[in-house]
Amino acid sequence: MDGNDRERVRRFYLQKGLFQPKMIFPKRQCGERDRRFVSTWFNDHPSWLEYSVSEDSCYCLFCYLFKPEHGGQSGGDVFVTKGFTNWKEAVKKFRDHVGDINSIHHKCMRACQDLMHEKQHIEIVISNQSEQTRIDYHTRLVASVDVVKLCLIQALAFRGHDESEDSTKKGEAVKVCEDLELWDTAIYSYCLLEKKASTMELIKKRLAERPSDSRLWCSLGDVTNDDACYEKALEVSENRSARAKVIHHISCLDPTILKS
Ligand SMILES: [Zn+2]
Repeated sequence: MDGNDRERVRRFYLQKGLFQPKMIFPKRQCGERDRRFVSTWFNDHPSWLEYSVSEDSCYCLFCYLFKPEHGGQSGGDVFVTKGFTNWKEAVKKFRDHVGDINSIHHKCMRACQDLMHEKQHIEIVISNQSEQTRIDYHTRLVASVDVVKLCLIQALAFRGHDESEDSTKKGEAVKVCEDLELWDTAIYSYCLLEKKASTMELIKKRLAERPSDSRLWCSLGDVTNDDACYEKALEVSENRSARAKVIHHISCLDPTILKS
């Protein structure tokens, strides 16, 4: 199992949540008399204590998932591999297991929290990106409709038969976009027409005038597939460009994280 598989398994267990059944727990000989698991122990340790019905024992979810990376464990492996069953001393042993802020248990707990926060963080970034994409799409749509209207009123050819870079019979739509300084729409149109040279020329011309426009840096990144452009977009936007964040995060982080 490689690192990515391990992360997926851990996230699966954390999302599934703890198994803390409501039931009548069986008695077993414990010291001089029979004792059983006490359900209120779940209330005392709601975030980590798990009960195994088949074994009549309990485990720590945090340490179970991360203990191999954090070495020894207070109370041995009992909460990780064997399962804890010493009901007579449970209250004290649970407290010992949790320990202070620097205990292995706390380290494992923070590792679990970090793992889930990482995924949530990416989900938030993607959500912001989706909202920005929606706004950008609406802006381009309105601009495109205006350009189409103008072409109709002026009886201009919307698109020519030959839209290649050096054609002399190109349509007017993209040129109108440029004349009206609808830069986003013009850049997007060039991208759709797969005119890489024209796209880059226009973006670079615009960047010379607006070097702090994060959208232009993102567009340049889209055309060139160069992650440095998204890094530049993050820099000029003071880390606010949702579009740059999502692409940069996805290219830097575990590529399988979005599939789980
Ligand atoms: Zn633990």
